[in-house]
Amino acid sequence: MAAPRLWSVSRLLGIQATLRCGSRVYSTSQAFAEVLQLPKSKLTKLVFPLQELERHLLPAWRSELHLNIFDPSLQDIARAESFFTHSERNRIEYLSSAVRLDHAPDLLRPEVCFIGRSNVGKSSLIKTLFSLAPEVEVRVSKKPGHTKKMNFFKVGKYFTLVDMPGYGYRAPEDFADMVETYLKERRNLTRTFLLVDSVVGIQKADHIAIEMCEEFSLPYVMVLTKIDKCSKGYLLKQVLQIQKFVDSKTQGCFPQLFPVSAVTYSGIHLLKCFIANITGNLKSL
Ligand code: GDP
Repeated sequence: MAAPRLWSVSRLLGIQATLRCGSRVYSTSQAFAEVLQLPKSKLTKLVFPLQELERHLLPAWRSELHLNIFDPSLQDIARAESFFTHSERNRIEYLSSAVRLDHAPDLLRPEVCFIGRSNVGKSSLIKTLFSLAPEVEVRVSKKPGHTKKMNFFKVGKYFTLVDMPGYGYRAPEDFADMVETYLKERRNLTRTFLLVDSVVGIQKADHIAIEMCEEFSLPYVMVLTKIDKCSKGYLLKQVLQIQKFVDSKTQGCFPQLFPVSAVTYSGIHLLKCFIANITGNLKSL
């Protein structure tokens, strides 16, 4: 499904707008101001994909989805958009790349990293997160034999986002050398986002990453990618299955899943708000 043209254009332009909620006025992107104008069912589908799925469950099953754990208001989601909007005062930019932890920039800001199998949709997701900063180049190095690097991006003065090399191809060597050391030793790492393809579910290589996060007692979050490729029924089945796994087999995984699509933008605003929150930038939540 293609995103509505009007707000996809203004999303790219990153036009600022103000949003009035009661007596408070928020600065947000034109894109999100337009999202707020959508009919309720479309808005729910776009911003809260799990909530949309939940409607198809029997009441007894609804609590399974842990829907209310992170349940921000639309105002907070709009506020979070401003952190991801590039401007002179909020510079979002590529910082550097590193093949070893001791080459990584020495930063004090909170850091979040994105890990996942090659082809899981990691670059697409990061590009989507940075769609309000169109100059940011998310580098992709997929050629066999090409050195894979950790790429660091500064998001204003708020936090750093790290794009980790995809695993699967040439793993576990890449992992042992780089990712494992980073995950184990990076002191300002606040949260690890582990991407799982919603079409194929948790794969063998994902289990290795999950075990690593568990072994290092890392707080991590599972993000389900490419949800636009699944029918509602299939996605519900996948979500329930993965949720069951998270509930019964993990300790450090955040209980709420984050389904997203880089094509329809479904779940993207909520994920940005969650990142803003866990990096300590949405204090009122
Ligand atoms: P990476 O190797 O994890 O960085 O994966 P990419 O972001 O390059 O995506 C791998 C493939 O999946 C590409 O063909 C993308 O166009 C496709 N893809 C990524 N995200 C989505 C999504 O949300 N929906 C759909 N339909 N395809 C996606």
